[in-house]
Amino acid sequence: MKTIAFYTLGCRLNQAEEEKLRRQFNEAGFFVARPELADIIVINTCSITGVADKKSRQAIRRLKGLNDRAKIVVIGCGANELGQLPEVDLAIGNKDKDKVFTIITQEYSLVPKFSQQKSSTSKRTRALLKIQDGCNNFCAYCIVPYLRGREKSLSLNELVSEAIKLRKLGYNELVLSGVNVGRHDDLEGLINELLVKTDFPRIRLSSINPQDITPKLIKLWSRDKRLCRHFHLSLQSGCDETLKRMGRPYNGADFTKVVNLIRKEINEVAITTDVIVGFPGETAEEFTKTCDFIKKTKFAKIHVFPYSVREGTKASKMTQQIDSRIKKERAKILRDVSSKLRENYLHDFVGKTENVLFEEKKGSYWWGLTSNYIKVRYEGKVLINQILPVTLKKENIF
Ligand code: SF4
Repeated sequence: MKTIAFYTLGCRLNQAEEEKLRRQFNEAGFFVARPELADIIVINTCSITGVADKKSRQAIRRLKGLNDRAKIVVIGCGANELGQLPEVDLAIGNKDKDKVFTIITQEYSLVPKFSQQKSSTSKRTRALLKIQDGCNNFCAYCIVPYLRGREKSLSLNELVSEAIKLRKLGYNELVLSGVNVGRHDDLEGLINELLVKTDFPRIRLSSINPQDITPKLIKLWSRDKRLCRHFHLSLQSGCDETLKRMGRPYNGADFTKVVNLIRKEINEVAITTDVIVGFPGETAEEFTKTCDFIKKTKFAKIHVFPYSVREGTKASKMTQQIDSRIKKERAKILRDVSSKLRENYLHDFVGKTENVLFEEKKGSYWWGLTSNYIKVRYEGKVLINQILPVTLKKENIF
């Protein structure tokens, strides 16, 4: 029986797609092995930046070097380009992403022997469910719409039956992921169905754009405590002029309105975000506006990305590209702001009790995550994938 291995680079959506493929091959009776032992290695590539492209290329060469007799199958956002590499036996582009299982089994004459999967083959405790793909926004710095195409949603029936399968595999948390989860045809309806038809103790949203948050959607959170009190709201800049050049469809006031709506409805909610520093034309004044906006919004955590040019995007053709030394400085400043805000956020939870989903053991400590995105270190007898109430202490939360 042929064995297959997976290696994924890039975003949560790529990881969700790997998870789904693992399940498909596992249910079809194929053994999921480590790359050095596999007959076929599927590499899910990322092409979001030039650096990501390089890493994907290096991974292909390294895995072929590790196991020369294996067939190398390249999928994902870099497949079309990287498929030309001599190490690659088969390349499947994003337009055929939903047919990867069929294409590989046909290409290598694999005969599936379907059986009900009893337990998860994944190393994860949280199940990633891809609900949507593609994007119609064309933000000036982003290549994703060119790589993943137009927005398309998976149907409620398909998603609910997939979720029920994942719950049977023992997962305790379901993470709804996509390029733009807020652009799912019926996100509210989907969440409602998942709450009614599954008994997942936790359901979490991955990154969502502020313009897709509605009062009706947020109402679901005040109705059901299983929905995680965490919103990763993509801001990108706190300066209206910069947002305009980025082609983001909101300004600071719109963003604040959404944050206030969420905080009014959901108690002790975590709001985290992504910010790009050094976007073309970003002056020192504009950057200061971004810092002030971020301090005022009191995020629980900020992921800071120095702008990196991506060929094929509008921003790559913009003049006034910012010097990388300045980008580095601004990233440092904003990461310091983020650490301070994180400290303040965590401080509010010292002495409180929160349910923690334990995910891994490092040394003598178990590590897990609360619903509102607090990492907890815990010493004690715990089993992986358990949800336990823990009284939070200053020295044990991150
Ligand atoms: S919303 Fe903007 S940043 Fe996000 S995937 Fe679409 S184009 Fe890219």
